[in-house]
Amino acid sequence: MERCPKCGTSAEEILETGFVGCEKCYELPTVKKAVGKMFDGKKHKAKKD
Ligand SMILES: [Zn+2]
Repeated sequence: MERCPKCGTSAEEILETGFVGCEKCYELPTVKKAVGKMFDGKKHKAKKD
């Protein structure tokens, strides 16, 4: 399991809680993947009238 080199939070923990310890956590491959998916699902396109 990957661990953030800066804050020591494990990727597992981040996925479980949905919270990262610091900005470096996003650089863990597992987190990167998951975050990308999360953002894809939540992203809203701005509507133009
Ligand atoms: Zn971190």
